[in-house]
Amino acid sequence: MGSGCAGNTAAIYAARANLKPLVISGHEAGGQLSLTTLVENFPGFPEGINGPDLVENMRQQATHFGAEYLHGQVIETDLSARPFHLHVEGEWIETRTLIIATGAAARWLGLPSEQKLIGKGVSSCATCDGSFFRGGKIIVIGGGDSAMEEANFLSRFGSEITLVHRRGEFRASKIMLDRARHNPKVKFLTNTMVEELYDVSKDMVTGVRLRDLQSNRVWEQDVDGFFLAIGHIPNTKVFAGQIETDEDGYILSKGGARTNIPGVFHAGDVQDRIYRQAITAAGAGCMAAIEAERFLEAEGH
Ligand code: NAP
Repeated sequence: MGSGCAGNTAAIYAARANLKPLVISGHEAGGQLSLTTLVENFPGFPEGINGPDLVENMRQQATHFGAEYLHGQVIETDLSARPFHLHVEGEWIETRTLIIATGAAARWLGLPSEQKLIGKGVSSCATCDGSFFRGGKIIVIGGGDSAMEEANFLSRFGSEITLVHRRGEFRASKIMLDRARHNPKVKFLTNTMVEELYDVSKDMVTGVRLRDLQSNRVWEQDVDGFFLAIGHIPNTKVFAGQIETDEDGYILSKGGARTNIPGVFHAGDVQDRIYRQAITAAGAGCMAAIEAERFLEAEGH
């Protein structure tokens, strides 16, 4: 389940092992890479590669070895007995093993202007996109560890980092908060929210409108890069009560790629709240496929 880096890589390995993989593309086919532009840190592409091209190449590679793709979303699962049952928009599918590579969706503010400018100055991944804003003015939204980490990381590139948080208190751990506070390039704006992003008509981020939630003062500020660090939502709802997750919904690994259900494996961001990179997701997809292969072999298939 899932057609991002993790799902596609699992499909390549499973297909080459003659396991007849079926990839259910899911709600956002191609995963988070399909929302990015240039990817410069995936090994093997010295000039970089566009995210949608990278994931499409993986799909073609898997198809070449016999993987099949089914467009649609799994809306219900029954993992109580094998074969497992998956309900894909009107059709029930049976499978001997399942690799869950459903990913985690970045949380967005939800402003229409923000959605239109994703990949054009709006990003949910500092590691991926920070270097595009060398010398630029950057805003980071959030008050957790991710926001502190991203603000510090982005200070390597940007001339000025403004961290905007909606409250006066932070969820971030003290050490991460202190690190950002001691960074001379990072300025804090607390009790502040973003009301609007500019400029959709120019197809690029040029500024924001902010509101101080205590004084109600509204002002505009020039900005080149706008980074969201307000959390991710792992896509595990459809396994509720069956697959063990932590309190935020991330799958709890039982070692390697194993979940609490034998024959069900995890790959990628659906289990990983730390690294969340295309390359780590691809590696996890490989691990899951190898484990699935060994599992089936041990059962005599
Ligand atoms: P998080 O701790 O849930 O923090 C999310 C932040 O975004 C909160 O400050 C929240 O504000 C804010 N936020 C949420 N929705 C918002 C909205 N609609 N508008 C404006 N602000 C919004 O998420 P995270 O920082 O991604 O961290 C997730 C987990 O990973 C945590 O357990 C964290 O410790 C861990 N992590 C660890 C490291 C590290 O140790 N190196 C690095 C990154 C993440 P409120 O506070 O007002 O709710």
